[in-house]
Amino acid sequence: MTDDRLVSGAAPDPQDRALRPQTLAEFVGQAQAKANLKVFIDAARERAEALDHVLLFGPPGLGKTTLAQIIARELGVNFRATSGPILAKAGDLAAILTNLEPRDVLFIDEIHRLNPAVEEILYPAMEDHVLDLMIGEGPAARSVRIDLAPFTLVGATTRAGLLATPLRDRFGIPIRLEFYSPEELSGVLNHAARRMGAELTADGATEIAARSRGTPRVAGRLLRRVRDFAMADGAKAIDRLTAAKALARLEVDEQGLDALDRKFLKALIENYGGGPVGMDTLAAAIAEARDAVEDVIEPYLLQQGFIQRTPRGRVACARAYAHLGLAEPSRTPG
Ligand code: ADP
Repeated sequence: MTDDRLVSGAAPDPQDRALRPQTLAEFVGQAQAKANLKVFIDAARERAEALDHVLLFGPPGLGKTTLAQIIARELGVNFRATSGPILAKAGDLAAILTNLEPRDVLFIDEIHRLNPAVEEILYPAMEDHVLDLMIGEGPAARSVRIDLAPFTLVGATTRAGLLATPLRDRFGIPIRLEFYSPEELSGVLNHAARRMGAELTADGATEIAARSRGTPRVAGRLLRRVRDFAMADGAKAIDRLTAAKALARLEVDEQGLDALDRKFLKALIENYGGGPVGMDTLAAAIAEARDAVEDVIEPYLLQQGFIQRTPRGRVACARAYAHLGLAEPSRTPG
C-alpha cells in the first residue's frame, strides 16, 4: 500500500500537527507562493474584506493544509476544515457554510473528490455568498435562498487538472506548491528536531534531507524513525553516519527512493522494455491503484528525471537504468 510506506507523502501523521509552522515567516520554502500570498493577505486585511478563494495544488505532504491554517491565522479569522469525500450531501456543506463568520477560512481538502450535488451549491456560495437550497420533494418542492457571510474557500488538490473547469475558474488565487530543495528540507528538519528535542547535526540533516523526496512530511517522518534507531544504538546526536545507517535499514536509498519506487522503475524497464507504457498497465503491474501511483510515486520520479511522460505513455530515462544498475538498451531513432 502506498499509504503506509515511509517515504509516502500521503496519509497524514498524527505527529504532523506538533511540527506545523504557525506563521508565513516560519513556513520554509515556496518563496514565490509566500510572497504573493503575503501581498493578497495584507491587502484583504487592510480592506477588511474576505481574501479571494485560494486553490492549493501539488503532491501530498508539501504543506497545503499547513498553508491553509497559516492563511487563516495571518488573516486573524477562524479556520474550518473538511474534505471532499466527507461532504456526502449538499446539506453537509450547507451546515458548515451557514455557520461561518465573516471572512472565515473554510478549507476543503481533496476538493477534486466533491460529490457533484455538493459542488453545485458551492458555486453560488463562492461567487455571490448565497446558498440555494431545495426544500421538500416533488411538486411541493421549492427553493430558498440564504445569504452567507463572505468567506474564503481554500481548496487543496493533488493535481489542478482533476478539478472541473467551472470550479477551478472560481478560485482567484491558484497556487502551485513545488518540491522542496535539499537545503529547504534541512531547514524543515532543523526546525522539527528542535521541537522534538532531538539533537541533529548539520550533516545529519543534509543526509536525511537528500532522501526525503523533496517533501516536508517525508522529512519529518524519516527524522522520527532515524531518531528511534539512534536511540536504540545509544547515539546522542543524529549525525550523517547514524542517519545513513538508519535510512539503509529503512530501505530508503541515496536518492530517497524506496522499495515501491524501485519496483515501479523495475516494472517499467523489465516488463515493458522501458516503455512507453500506459499508467493503467504500470499501476496494475505493481498492484497499486492508478491514483496513488500518479499522486505519490510518479511526480517525484518525473521531477528527478527518472521517467518521462510522453503521449504514448511513461518512458524510463537513463537515470532510471543507472540507478538500478541496468544496461540501457540502444534505441533506434524514431
Ligand atoms: P499536505 O496538506 O500538502 O498534504 P501538510 O500541510 O499536511 O501537507 O504538511 C505535512 C507535514 O509537513 C506537516 O507536518 C507540516 O508541518 C510539514 N510541512 C509542510 N510544509 C512545511 C514547510 N514549508 N515548512 C515546515 N514544515 C512543513
